[in-house]
Amino acid sequence: MDFSRYIADRVLEIPRSGIRDFFEVVQTMTDVISLGIGEPDYVTPWRIREAAIFAMEKGKTGYTSNLGTPKLRQAIAKYIERRCDISYDPRTEILVSVGVSEALDLALRALLDPGDEVIYHEPSYVSYNPSVSLCYGKPVPVSTSADQEFRVLAEDIERVVTPRSKALLLNFPTNPTGGTIHATDLKPIADLCRRHDLIVLSDEIYSELVYDGAEHTSIASLPGMKERTVLLNGCSKSYAMTGFRVGYACAPGPIIEAMMKIHQYAIMCASNMSQEAAIEALENCRNEVVAMRNDYERRRNFVVNRLNEIGLPCHSPRGTFYAFPNITPTGLQSKDFSLRLLKSEKVAVVPGSAFGNPGEGYVRCCFATGMDKLKEAMDRVEEFVGKHAQS
Ligand code: PMP
Repeated sequence: MDFSRYIADRVLEIPRSGIRDFFEVVQTMTDVISLGIGEPDYVTPWRIREAAIFAMEKGKTGYTSNLGTPKLRQAIAKYIERRCDISYDPRTEILVSVGVSEALDLALRALLDPGDEVIYHEPSYVSYNPSVSLCYGKPVPVSTSADQEFRVLAEDIERVVTPRSKALLLNFPTNPTGGTIHATDLKPIADLCRRHDLIVLSDEIYSELVYDGAEHTSIASLPGMKERTVLLNGCSKSYAMTGFRVGYACAPGPIIEAMMKIHQYAIMCASNMSQEAAIEALENCRNEVVAMRNDYERRRNFVVNRLNEIGLPCHSPRGTFYAFPNITPTGLQSKDFSLRLLKSEKVAVVPGSAFGNPGEGYVRCCFATGMDKLKEAMDRVEEFVGKHAQS
């Protein structure tokens, strides 16, 4: 039977995630050191797990308000006020979602009419381009490069703005490059958004993971930006809570209301016990976050030093837990590099091409892995590069 007759064209047209395909190969192998999937290696801090257990013990097993429990929305409002200096009304301006993934999808579905253009910077998180297409929007990438530390510049965005541009999707710190943005670069971008009347979707999921004493700045905190920004954040990365599936969106009331309509029909609410766990995370886990962040910073220093030593030029990522080395000295394309490294040395990294065309020539190495494994992985990469280095 030809199922393509039944499956919607826009779904047939989007490719499967390059990361997942690659990791299906990894699953079939033994002794692989994976620097692949972007997930903390920590188990969720105990007090957060305990909060979920208590929630179940107390019988908190039913649906919650569609927007999320009032207590969690309060906790999110306080957290964002403390960290980003922006105040949101927890009754009308915050929605709790099933991870940032759902919040992003809701925002796109709520905002896009067919043909609306969404500008985003590449290399980018794998889901941005297909998520826009699935909402009948047109993804419009802007390239960023290592020599600019993967910052996106207002002048580059300006060049692709058209009368159909509706939204700008920003992700700082950036998956996969580890790029961050200076507050001084955000200002011209904010000016441009006001001038061209663009809505900003700001994915700040890595905002806790910034290094070298840097501070994260949200574009929503700039003058006149709160009313045109959908701030997306969640617990997955900062609190090692990927499996709890808690994210949230903070935005003007009418946008949250529009997102809520889709959320209530498609999802109803995020898991009740996960929401209880998220309250504990946001209110009482500052020390745990700082300890994990400091550990990632130590691992980053090690990995970046080793990659440069090995002959794969790598800028030092200022955020996230990804290193993005340049692999062109080996003369291999990123997919070929990754497959051969996996087969011969059993180290899994993600080909840069999975993150869009400007990712070619790079691979993504996630350093949210124990130091022993990182050391072994770097030794294996060294062995591999030694065999492929071009004279
Ligand atoms: N945004 C970015 C940039 C990510 O890297 C990820 C996860 N890899 C997500 C969103 C989704 O995170 P979650 O749904 O777990 O909150």
